[in-house]
Amino acid sequence: MPEGKIVKALSGFYYVLDGNRKVQCRGRGIFRKNKITPLVGDEVVYQAENDLEGYILEVKDRKNELIRPPISNVDQAILVFSALEPEFSPVLLDRFLVLIEANEIEPIICISKMDLLEDKGGKSRLESYIRDYRDIGYHVVLTSALEEESLQPLLPFFQERISVFAGQSGVGKSSLLNALKPELELKTNDISNHLGRGKHTTRHVELIHVGDGLVADTPGFSSLDFTDIEVEELSYCFPEMRKKSADCKFRACTHTAEPKCAVKAAVETGGITEHRYKNYLSFLEEIKDRKPRY
Ligand code: GDP
Ligand code: ZN
Repeated sequence: MPEGKIVKALSGFYYVLDGNRKVQCRGRGIFRKNKITPLVGDEVVYQAENDLEGYILEVKDRKNELIRPPISNVDQAILVFSALEPEFSPVLLDRFLVLIEANEIEPIICISKMDLLEDKGGKSRLESYIRDYRDIGYHVVLTSALEEESLQPLLPFFQERISVFAGQSGVGKSSLLNALKPELELKTNDISNHLGRGKHTTRHVELIHVGDGLVADTPGFSSLDFTDIEVEELSYCFPEMRKKSADCKFRACTHTAEPKCAVKAAVETGGITEHRYKNYLSFLEEIKDRKPRY
């Protein structure tokens, strides 16, 4: 049986990409029985009726599943943070990084609107943060939607992966997607159309080719609470802590009050930056407060 990937879902049809052909498929009654709704991103087995039409027979196990945009098997998130307007916020960046790491998605940090920084200054503050995140091992790419060459370094990251653009509103996600794929004509968040953009407008999501990969045409990942993250998982979402925690005396070390904690030692010696550790502690409190204590 042929296999492919759903790249678009619309009006009861699933468009399955199989090599170079896109087959318009219907689901089957079996999905209703098993309560599986196929999602964009799903790997499926299908039966072809002809070159253009078919039926989906089976949805393969998903690696992960996002709610906004509704898409599965996401490999990576292009996490967009603007240098200015709004100003770069490391606390918010860490929050996004934790949520993305928790979903086993690889984050690529993209600092947008670099052109504004050239004009208005504030470069050294940002540069020191960029060094910190690169030292942890994160890829950091500096871009401006106004300067096409600045987007070139992003392209290799898309290769053979499913990517989604993430980040708070107004950082320039739609502008970047438009610059990469002008035919998308996504609405950008200018003041003029901000009011007209209904909060509950649900666009359909589609995976589009960018470079040699597939990218969700709807930016998302905007839910920022830690509902699904447990206390003991949090430090695993900080790669530099994940590495050090193997040397903590206690296996379930929360890196707070425990003796012989390798993470706290690394904060002392500068191996882990204070701002990241501080954010870890405040996220930890937030997760603890969410739970009833026994
Ligand atoms: P989104 O909400 O993240 O999709 O952000 P938008 O793409 O809608 O952009 C928000 C605002 O920032 C718009 O007014 C854009 O014109 C502006 N903007 C986006 N990217 C850049 C950039 O690289 N440089 C400058 N100067 N402005 C930008
Ligand atoms: Zn520890």
